[in-house]
Amino acid sequence: MSTPADAVERLRELLRIPTISLIDSADLDVDAFERFRSSVEAFYPALHAAAERELVREHTMLYRWPGSTDGPVTVLMAHYDVVVATEEGWAHPPFAADIVGEGAQRELWGRGTIDDKGSVAAILEGAETLAAAGFVPEHDVYLLFGHDEETNGTGAREAARLLERRGVRIGLVLDEGGAVVDGVFPTVDRPIAVVGVSEKTTTMIELRVEQQGGHASTPPRETATSRLSRAVVRMNAHPFPATLNPPVERMLRAVAPHGRGLVRFVLSRPRLFRPLLIQLLTRLSVETSAMLRTTAVATILSAGHAQNALAESATAVVNARIAIDSDTARAVRRLTRVIADDAVTITVTQAARPSAVSEMDGPRWDLVASTINAVYPDAVVVPYVQTGATDSRQFSRLSSTVYRFSPFHMTGDERAALHAKDERIHVDAYLKGITFFERLIAEL
Ligand SMILES: [Zn+2]
Repeated sequence: MSTPADAVERLRELLRIPTISLIDSADLDVDAFERFRSSVEAFYPALHAAAERELVREHTMLYRWPGSTDGPVTVLMAHYDVVVATEEGWAHPPFAADIVGEGAQRELWGRGTIDDKGSVAAILEGAETLAAAGFVPEHDVYLLFGHDEETNGTGAREAARLLERRGVRIGLVLDEGGAVVDGVFPTVDRPIAVVGVSEKTTTMIELRVEQQGGHASTPPRETATSRLSRAVVRMNAHPFPATLNPPVERMLRAVAPHGRGLVRFVLSRPRLFRPLLIQLLTRLSVETSAMLRTTAVATILSAGHAQNALAESATAVVNARIAIDSDTARAVRRLTRVIADDAVTITVTQAARPSAVSEMDGPRWDLVASTINAVYPDAVVVPYVQTGATDSRQFSRLSSTVYRFSPFHMTGDERAALHAKDERIHVDAYLKGITFFERLIAEL
């Protein structure tokens, strides 16, 4: 009989395998990915007896757990690649899987605890318990564990295409995303379970200024570097307009009854107080602000080739996340207007459309919400806009119920450690995540 302590040990083993995502797949530590898969096989024998597994793009794992009858299938997704991490700056090494603290405060430290091996293992633990008990789902259940979510996302894309080609009808899709969080809205004391019903996707834009070179001792009034700098400053000084999109409106209405006084009054009337709420949300946090608008940030600046020569070109890589009710063309038109300099060329180097908004009610939404409440009775379950991209976007064409939710209670510090140093999760939160998936699969 497997105990919660065993489940924690299995996750620790998986965390110690450095399945680091790299843009160039030729550099991938293939051995680590293979070891991860063989550990999964060894840890979850009942599931492996009940389900068939295939590999997509070499490393992405796709399991089909056959159901008793035909019908729309469920896809439970997570990814087992992680963002690169070195020991520098970590209080506990990223691949040591240290456990720190006592009792309810026990935390498991390591790259991938939250993003996203915690989910991989929680899904597997839930499925294993059920498979060992002889459970057979009503319809097929697919488990999809991507190997390059953090970089190219090819594994999940290919898997989605594969299912589409095979004519598989897809019902519920659940991937990483929101979580159970505290203190998002003033006066709202209950935890909030935010379930992503749409996600912003990444559009990459290049700003470029070309100019005749020359000696640094006789600079012209305007240079490539001055023009580019000004363009970046102008872009920053003029944030994109914010709107209350339908998921955010729903979120506010759902939260309202749990707030007090003026907050409760205003949140429950999002149409009436639209301008006020937009102001409030854009100031409340970078997260709520990003839900309402397109964002654009210069992530890489480059210019110059010698200390004493004028730069012949200056470029900025702009990472833009398009609002769910907007598109790339509109973003470029606005950037052009805001930068207002013909010398700055604006080129879209990679475009993507925001994903469709999934259903915010109906049986699949209700199932996810009631399962969350079975594990977190206090939580207010609300839809929201996922601001980071996930692998699940590959399914937004194929299903009207694609949800992004990691069933873990996360503190603000834990959320801040995502993709950063000191990633960690409370051990109790992880165990609740297992219960969530076990209950969810049992109810499918
Ligand atoms: Zn992730």
